[in-house]
Amino acid sequence: MNPGMFIEANRIGPEWIADYGNGHLEVRNPANGELLGSVPLARAADVERCIAVAARAGERWRATPARARARALRRWHDLIAARKEDLATILTLEQGKPLSEARAEIDYAASFVQWYAEEAERIYGRIAPSIDGTSVFTVEKVPVGVVAAITPWNAPCSMVTRKVAPAIAAGCSVVLKPAEATPFSALALAELAAQAGIADGVLNVITGMPAEIGAVFTQSRAVRKISFTGSTPVARRLFAHAADSMKRLSLEAGGNAPFIVLQDADLDVAIDAAMIAKFRSGGQSCVAANRFFIHASVYEPFKTAFTRRVASLTCGAGMDHADVGPVIDANAARRIASLIDDATAQGATVLCGGYRAGTAFVNPAIVCDISPKMKIYRDEIFGPVAGLCAFEDVDALVSSLNAEDVGLIAYIISQDSIAARNIANRLDVGMVGINTGLASDASMPFGGVKGSGIGREGSIEGIEAYLETKYIKATP
Ligand code: ADP
Repeated sequence: MNPGMFIEANRIGPEWIADYGNGHLEVRNPANGELLGSVPLARAADVERCIAVAARAGERWRATPARARARALRRWHDLIAARKEDLATILTLEQGKPLSEARAEIDYAASFVQWYAEEAERIYGRIAPSIDGTSVFTVEKVPVGVVAAITPWNAPCSMVTRKVAPAIAAGCSVVLKPAEATPFSALALAELAAQAGIADGVLNVITGMPAEIGAVFTQSRAVRKISFTGSTPVARRLFAHAADSMKRLSLEAGGNAPFIVLQDADLDVAIDAAMIAKFRSGGQSCVAANRFFIHASVYEPFKTAFTRRVASLTCGAGMDHADVGPVIDANAARRIASLIDDATAQGATVLCGGYRAGTAFVNPAIVCDISPKMKIYRDEIFGPVAGLCAFEDVDALVSSLNAEDVGLIAYIISQDSIAARNIANRLDVGMVGINTGLASDASMPFGGVKGSGIGREGSIEGIEAYLETKYIKATP
C-alpha cells in the first residue's frame, strides 16, 4: 500500500495536524486486535477553529463557478478510482469487511462523487409569475453554509462521500467527524480531495470524543447543517440539541428491516436476495435484513435451502478473503451472542453458526422461530445472524410492522409484481426492494421514516439537502 495514504493526523484547512496536545485515539484491526495507528483527540477549541476555517473557505467556495466545483469533484472521483486498492486495503484493515466487499464499497463511494459532480451543474431555481404583474419573482437555490458531517464505521468511505460530495457540489464547506473505529478511510479520502483541487478548508476532517465534538457542532451558530448517519439514540440527541440554533438536519438512523417471502416466491431468487440482504458487510448495515418473515407454506423449504447456503459461508479476516469478516469489535460480538441466547432461552432454535467466544467473530447464523417478545426480533442485530419466523396473514404482518417505531427498508420476494407493489405501498418505510437484496444506489433517495430518520441522501434529494431556497421579489 502507498504509505502516504495512512494518515495519522487531522485536516484543517491546508494543514495536517498530528497532535493537539490532548492525547490520541488508537485504531485497531478488528480481525486480530493489532494496533493500526492513532489519530489526535481534538479539544472543543480545535473543533471551533476548524469550523471557523470551514466558514471562511465556504465563502469562497460558494462563489466558485459550478463548473469548477464539478471539475474538482470529477478529479476526486478519478483519484478514488485510481487508488481503489489502497482505499480498500485501509477499509478492510480498520473495519474488517472482506477485501472484495471493501472494493465494492470504494466503487459505491466513488459513484456518489461522480453523481454529484454531474449534479453540481444542474442546480436550478425558477422564475415565478407575478400575480398582479408588478414584480419579478425569482426563486434561487443557495448553499446552506457550513456542514458538520458525522459518519459511522460500517461503511467508512461511502458514508463520507454520500454526504461530502453533494455538500461540496452545492457550494458548502464541510467539517467531517468520522467514527472512532474507522478514521483512516476518511483521512485518505480527504488527502485525495486535496490532490483533486478541492480548495483548502472546504473539506476538513477532525477526530476526537464524539459527544464533545457533537456538542460543539450542535451549539455552533456557524454550523448551518448537520448530516448524521448512525444509531437512533444519537440521532435523537443531535435533533434535540440542534433545536436552539435551528439547524437543518439530515439524520439516517437505524432500521429493523423485514424480509418478506410470499407464498408464490421463487425460492432461488429469495435465497440469493436473502444472502445479500443479510450477509453483505456481515450484517453490519442499517439496511441489513433483520427478520425473515416466510409464508408458512414455504417456511420448511426456505429454511433448508437457506441453512445450506449460510453454513457454506467462510468466516475469517477480511484480508484472507473470507466471505464474512469479524464484527467491529469483541463487545459487538458479545452483544450479538446475547441476542441469540435471549432468543433460544425463549424457544427459538439455532440452525447453524454462532459466537466464537472471546473473539470479534460470529459465524454466520440462522435462528428460527423468533417472535416479538425476543430482543433479536425487536433490536437491530447488526451482525451475521438471520432470525426467521413463519407468517400466514400478510395484512396482519403489514399492520404489525407499521406499528413499530422504525421504518427504513423492507424486502419483498414474490412472482406477483402487483401483490408485491401493493405491500410495498402499504409499508411505512422509506425504501423497498422487490426480488432483490440490494436496493442502494447513488441515483436513488436513501432514507427512512419515523425513528429511522429525517431526510434523504443520494439522487436529487441528496443535493437539495444542502441547499436553501431563497426568493427575491423585485419591483421596478
Ligand atoms: P454505533 O452504535 O453504530 O457506533 P453511533 O450512533 O454511536 O452508532 O455512531 C455513529 C457516529 O456518531 C460515529 O461517528 C460516532 O462517533 C458519532 N457519535 C456517537 N455519539 C455521538 C454524540 N453524542 N454526538 C455526536 N456524534 C456522536
